[in-house]
Amino acid sequence: MEQEILGIKESALSELGSAQTREELQAIRVKYLGKKGELTRILRGMGGLSPELRPKVGHLANQVRAFIEEELERRLLVILEQEKQQRLEAEAIDVTLPGRTMRRGHKHPLTIVLEEIKDIFTAMGFDIAEGPEVEWDYYNFEALNIPKGHPARDMQDSFYITEEILLRTHTSPVQIRTMERMVPNLPVRIIAPGKVYRRDDDATHSPMFHQVEGLLVDRHCTLGDLKGVLLTFARQMFGEDREIRLRPSFFPFTEPSAEVDISCFSCKGEGCRVCSGTGWLEILGAGMVHPKVLENVGYNPEEVFGFAFGMGVERIALLKYGINDLRLFFENDIRFLRQF
Ligand SMILES: [Zn+2]
Repeated sequence: MEQEILGIKESALSELGSAQTREELQAIRVKYLGKKGELTRILRGMGGLSPELRPKVGHLANQVRAFIEEELERRLLVILEQEKQQRLEAEAIDVTLPGRTMRRGHKHPLTIVLEEIKDIFTAMGFDIAEGPEVEWDYYNFEALNIPKGHPARDMQDSFYITEEILLRTHTSPVQIRTMERMVPNLPVRIIAPGKVYRRDDDATHSPMFHQVEGLLVDRHCTLGDLKGVLLTFARQMFGEDREIRLRPSFFPFTEPSAEVDISCFSCKGEGCRVCSGTGWLEILGAGMVHPKVLENVGYNPEEVFGFAFGMGVERIALLKYGINDLRLFFENDIRFLRQF
């Protein structure tokens, strides 16, 4: 029996020497020291030994047990150290590997177009003005010659917060706010870019969209000046060979008023799908500031004149990029946005 115990010690020692993982160590522990382990089996079988032999064999078995436990412990420390070393090696930076490139983002197409519009007008001497998106009914309608009950209000069906406060339906209230601040000084020369809100939602309308308002007020200011400014804009935005035409229209805050078209850049005026066969594309509304509006803010409409225009940024971007659904701008689909 003593031989058997010493044999267990030998084989346990050799197995421990070749164990490489914590799992292998655990298997060795179970094999020799577990409930059904080899050494445990011997200790259990000691009942059959003579009383003289029993303490001697018991002592040896306990010694071997303690020895195996110590060896297990020692071997565990070695393995833990090896594992740590392997982890460090795995985490080490290999400077010869190619780098991970970060995909670079870029500006949203509407931002690109808006910045282009701003650049064109600031180069002509216009300043940039801003106003609140939550606006008084007075600035959004009343001061722009659109009294309560005026049919023009229906055309801009609006998001009201209270009876007197709403989300602005156009950037035109910035005209009023700017003139109020400037009067009686001249000239007033601003563009007002920003978000506006209307209860529309289809392929060519979004409940939120962007406009750029333009306003010039001075002692000498004619429809010819308006046309010159808009022609300059059209050519810089859509190409040097563009022409514009003004069609009579109606806005409560301008008189006379006009819809402004540019000659189609796709067919050069021949008529095509882009321009619905007309050769012209409608891009904005404009006109001479209504005397009533000038009077509302404190200018003398006998001595002071102005022109104003307003355009939809989405409309310009749709035309410029040949996009047929405005909702694409707001869906944040990377496949769409990546193309600009
Ligand atoms: Zn065309």
